[in-house]
Amino acid sequence: MSCIICFFDTNNQKKLRNECDIEDRFEKKLSIYRDIFIESLESLQKVEQCECLKNKNNKANETITALNNYLEILQGKKELFINIFNELISIYQSYITKSQYSALDKFWVFFKKYKLDQIKVDEDILNKNLWYRCRNKKDDLPKDIYHFYHIPFNKRGNISNQRFSISGQPMLYLANSLYIATKELGKDIYELETSAFFLNRIKNQKIYNLRNTLFKEVVNISRTLSSLENNKNNNTDELINKIKELFNSIDDKDIAQYILASMCTFKKNENSKSHIAEYVMPQMLTSLLLKHNYAGIFFPSTKDLSDMTIKFTDIDYDLNLALFVNYSYNDNYDEDLLKSLDYYLINNNKTSNIKLEDAIQFYNSLECKEYFSKIFIFNETVNLKNRNLNGIDYYESIVGEAELEFIMKFLNG
Ligand SMILES: [Zn+2]
Repeated sequence: MSCIICFFDTNNQKKLRNECDIEDRFEKKLSIYRDIFIESLESLQKVEQCECLKNKNNKANETITALNNYLEILQGKKELFINIFNELISIYQSYITKSQYSALDKFWVFFKKYKLDQIKVDEDILNKNLWYRCRNKKDDLPKDIYHFYHIPFNKRGNISNQRFSISGQPMLYLANSLYIATKELGKDIYELETSAFFLNRIKNQKIYNLRNTLFKEVVNISRTLSSLENNKNNNTDELINKIKELFNSIDDKDIAQYILASMCTFKKNENSKSHIAEYVMPQMLTSLLLKHNYAGIFFPSTKDLSDMTIKFTDIDYDLNLALFVNYSYNDNYDEDLLKSLDYYLINNNKTSNIKLEDAIQFYNSLECKEYFSKIFIFNETVNLKNRNLNGIDYYESIVGEAELEFIMKFLNG
């Protein structure tokens, strides 16, 4: 038994999806996932009865009540959850029984119905950290930015099937920490070349978001209430109004966005040789987004991240971004996109040995801190010092130190 916090936790949902592996067909896995999900949602216990509360900093009563109310609201929407699951499963079935064309038509109807086409770009995510990309170490390749950029148009033959891109279609995959970037390639950092990007200038474009929206709401409720509770000047009425405001903001769109995100992030079946069923929905999603002029998509990592422990509120730690690449007949790369990115390379043949204190000291010595993004990224860096990798502070690990080196380069630039 678990509570709403444990249930919507990204790792728990990942576990739930992996439990559906007992079926070999993806359409059956989806049905099992729907059934387990609905059954679990119905039987969740109240926060104060859950084991997990012992590990959290004594949650105040108002927060517990608010989270329990939120659970009740979601439980009251059971039919909506089931309908959305069924609509998405039916889109997948159209693909396998009819054609991609008919599935895409249905998919766009779904998008419009739940207003998923109205999701705004979360500029915070773009602004608050650098984005990382790794490549396998190869001595014979030049180490300029093109080595880390998308696969060139004249080497399409090297592009295999990826979650959000069909084979032969280049795309720029980035991760919001060096840790995630190494996990995506399944390698240790010393086996990889690394790069970092700053995406400040692409923020005016549409970027779809496949994040865990319902868990984000759980965290938002906890955060809002604890900040209100800490502020002694607030009265109970204000608290109650704030909670009402939060609850009114939960709509069908959040639930549709959430279930679609879940369906697009099933772990790939390692036995699949050519066709990968788990990639059908995400690839169809990419087709829709491309057709409707999106610049990319945020999505959570599906890799095993259990060697990292994070604070409950650190909800974006597993984020990736796939940026769509525009074709050019004359160039081998999307030069326009590259011009809109700032990038940083380091020589990671040697260890960085940079400590968080060095970065803080350096930041404090900077004269023109008014450069807004430096403040933003620096604050986020300090915020994330609670991440713990294999039992040590993230920034004390080799990956964390290399990340700090990139941050120093960025601050320096
Ligand atoms: Zn719990």
